[in-house]
Amino acid sequence: MTNNRNSPIEISKAEFKKVGYQLIDTISDFMNTIDERPVTTGETPAQIQNVLGNSSLPEDGVPVSALVSKTADLLLNHSLLNGHPKFFGYITSSPTPIGALADLLAAAVNPNVGANILSPIATEIEKQTIKWLAEFIGIAPSCGGILVSGGNMANFTAFLAARTAKAPKSIKETGLMNMHDEMILYCSKATHTWVEKAAVLFGHGTKAIRWIPADADNKMKTEILSQTIKDDLNKGKKPFLVIANAGDVSTGAVDNLSEIAAICKAHDLWFHVDGAYGIPAAVIPRYKNMFKGIEEADSIALDPHKWLYAPLEAGCTLVKNPQHLVDTYSAHPVYYNFDNSEDEPSLNFYEYGLQNSRGFRALKVWMALQQAGKNGYIEMINKNIELSQLLFEEAKKHPEIEAISNNLSITTFRYVPADYLQDEKINETYLNGLNEKLLNELQRGGELFLSNAVVADKYCLRACIVNFRTSAKDIVEIIEIIAREGKQLHQKFSSKAG
Ligand SMILES: *Cc1c(COP(=O)(O)O)cnc(C)c1O
Repeated sequence: MTNNRNSPIEISKAEFKKVGYQLIDTISDFMNTIDERPVTTGETPAQIQNVLGNSSLPEDGVPVSALVSKTADLLLNHSLLNGHPKFFGYITSSPTPIGALADLLAAAVNPNVGANILSPIATEIEKQTIKWLAEFIGIAPSCGGILVSGGNMANFTAFLAARTAKAPKSIKETGLMNMHDEMILYCSKATHTWVEKAAVLFGHGTKAIRWIPADADNKMKTEILSQTIKDDLNKGKKPFLVIANAGDVSTGAVDNLSEIAAICKAHDLWFHVDGAYGIPAAVIPRYKNMFKGIEEADSIALDPHKWLYAPLEAGCTLVKNPQHLVDTYSAHPVYYNFDNSEDEPSLNFYEYGLQNSRGFRALKVWMALQQAGKNGYIEMINKNIELSQLLFEEAKKHPEIEAISNNLSITTFRYVPADYLQDEKINETYLNGLNEKLLNELQRGGELFLSNAVVADKYCLRACIVNFRTSAKDIVEIIEIIAREGKQLHQKFSSKAG
């Protein structure tokens, strides 16, 4: 290529290759030594700011080679590494290496996947990815869908489709203003916080949410759901949406999907399943039954950046009848000429969701699904579940660790000092405080990374294993680390108190 412009942002072919290969070498070394690094350096924001420096916006450019190696140093040495085999916090997976290559390729081509005409191959790859995700979880591939940034957006996308489908037709013109019957939605107490954000942002208000109690296993009490809907109907309210969890964010519990589906059918309500974390487990034959009823869902949220190990960001909304997405999101301004085909109408993803210009996030999901295949994913997801069960068993066996819950690949547990039963100063309040401090200590320490859950009023440590690098050895090791740190903290506090 002869480039006459010599733009300040262009990189010559020779330099791109040199710097690019060097960067690949650096990343490859990083990935191959990730288990020898701390999960996090535990640096404070002030320390990090110090490393970064506070120079003002550069007036003139700098050489590419130095810039790239300095940036790589910053990221590799001052990040929390969710690709570390002992990272189990929140629901953040280790990222697939092929996803890093896919993002590089996608950025180089830079298709705008808002419109078919702007992204001919990328649009087809996204359509195929959506069909494969449907097959993966065992629903009809005739469903439609769209990739979004994550679970919140996937649930929002479905929420608005549900509203368009079930509200009076006038909602698009009058909004909620003339809604004489308040529209009501239902979900269990264990539902992720996105639902409050949706109720607030989309004008319903949090009073439109009916929080249905959950049982001891964190599953929605379906008799209460049924009764609450009937009560609302008697009061002249307008129920429109029920949200079920397929893997609740705290403990991984899967609601009784077929019972909830039947209740939705009886009252003509939209049935949405939030499977952001857990639904990929439906690929495993022996877990199929746990997700029975999923095929009845009007919409499903699923996060490839959780249990399919895609690098951030990748969420997905699947909708049984994709026309509901078009009804909700499509518009045809005069300045778009996106339907220039003579024969078949083209699918334009801007008509399927909230975004207009869209990046090619499907590529990293599409490539990973091929690299590992369905069987590769069955192996990895199965292994994560087995490791979380191993963690539960090891916690049970340990004299100073109490195992609390285990669903899918989430295990909760807590540190309980051996003198618990003898010493009356050690009560539930003390244990909650001790475990909270223990979590903070562990998170700063960098040997492993956990998050927390409150289960039956107990402050628990929580490990969610969506990590294809974790092995049984890591699990055995973290039990020892937790017990060691727990004992130290307890000794510190009990000697202070005594
Ligand atoms: C993680 C999660 C969400 C939110 O997803 P993000 O990708 O963080 O936006 C919503 N619901 C459930 C059940 C989740 O596990």
